Amino acid sequence: MTIASKASLEYAKELDQKDSIAQYRDQFHIPKDDNGNDWIYMCGNSLGLQPKTTKKYIQQELDDWANYGVEGHFEAKNPWMPYHEFLTDTMAKVVGAKPIEVVIMNTLTTNLHLLMVSFYQPNKTKYKIVIESDAFPSDRYAVESQLRFHGFDPKEGLIEWKPRSGEELLRLEDLETILDQQGDEIALLLIGGVNYYTGQYLDLKKIADLGHAKNCMVGIDLAHGVGNIQPELHDSGVDFAAWCTYKYLNSGPGSLGGLFVHEKHAYNKDLKRFAGWWSHNKNTRFNMRQEFDVMPGAEGYQLSNPPILSMAAIKASLDIFNEVGMDALRKKSKALTAYFEFLINEIDTDRIRIITPTNPEERGCQLSVQVKNADKSLHQQLTDHHVITDWREPDVIRCAPTPLYNSFEDVYRMTEILKTLV
Ligand SMILES: *Cc1c(COP(=O)(O)O)cnc(C)c1O
Repeated sequence: MTIASKASLEYAKELDQKDSIAQYRDQFHIPKDDNGNDWIYMCGNSLGLQPKTTKKYIQQELDDWANYGVEGHFEAKNPWMPYHEFLTDTMAKVVGAKPIEVVIMNTLTTNLHLLMVSFYQPNKTKYKIVIESDAFPSDRYAVESQLRFHGFDPKEGLIEWKPRSGEELLRLEDLETILDQQGDEIALLLIGGVNYYTGQYLDLKKIADLGHAKNCMVGIDLAHGVGNIQPELHDSGVDFAAWCTYKYLNSGPGSLGGLFVHEKHAYNKDLKRFAGWWSHNKNTRFNMRQEFDVMPGAEGYQLSNPPILSMAAIKASLDIFNEVGMDALRKKSKALTAYFEFLINEIDTDRIRIITPTNPEERGCQLSVQVKNADKSLHQQLTDHHVITDWREPDVIRCAPTPLYNSFEDVYRMTEILKTLV
């Protein structure tokens, strides 16, 4: 097979035929144009597409609510009282955790704050927080507000781990330098496991080891990692992590988030935290007025009884992840993104540069493609062709071919359209 023929529709279709999980595309609603042709949807890093089963899962809970009212907490087909537990095993597998370390609750930024109540406990000398300079804005705001809440000036307390000048990607050596120089003053590292902008997947275990060597707590934002890479959270040793479920986990706009608290903290009742009745021992929760008895593990971070309709959508999605398995997903993902990368590099122009790492172990499915001298009209033109990507000023399009519902044909067609626009 020559290089030239790899860059052809026939070859892309051949790859789809050989793809052992290609059939899952049919399990999703793919948006269509007026002629009934599928959009090329590369925005699973922002909002994942809807599984066709989601409606059925939500309908089940609506029916049980209609038929049982409050009794649905026990009588529903999937009783609401323990509903979050139905999500735990698969959620744990997807992030490489033990079930006791994982729970679905609240939303991402809320969970980051709740986790920082426990894992950011600064004192006068050890109070600084390290984030990536290109952290997602919400994470930055959350961290700055935590610093202020504890009486510190973010200008003093916030340390940015920056790419070197002229580079986009982070180097672990530079984090090491920050820790060597200021480690005694640093209380917490809060790092995006997969950077939302560059798509760089960082070595979580190395980050945990570096932070722990200086007695810092280490937290990971997995918004762009969950359902995308295999973060092996337990083995990495990070103290906590949080993520949302509406991106690669396809659980619907604004759906609940998930969090991880490492087993080493599971039974520590002295850890400060905010509490509610759902953090209390489930065996005595309804005796009410009992002295607070926190549940071990991640479940002890819950506050409220959770929204079942949102959890039903998460269950619909996680059941698919459970069936496919992260190994198969990641395998296809690497092949799909490598093919995408190959095709982009074939475009004969010096305007295009991929800023995502070329090493498949240092990225998930996303490629961040810089187009020199482009402006947002390029993104608009792609959208006009029903190629859905994510624009980031000044000149980067973020494209996420997801292994569950994107095809090799998708990435081929996408690059053909991009080629005509540049
Ligand atoms: C998507 C995303 C968020 C969004 O936070 P919400 O609380 O779910 O609105 C936060 N941080 C990162 C890194 C993200 O990618």
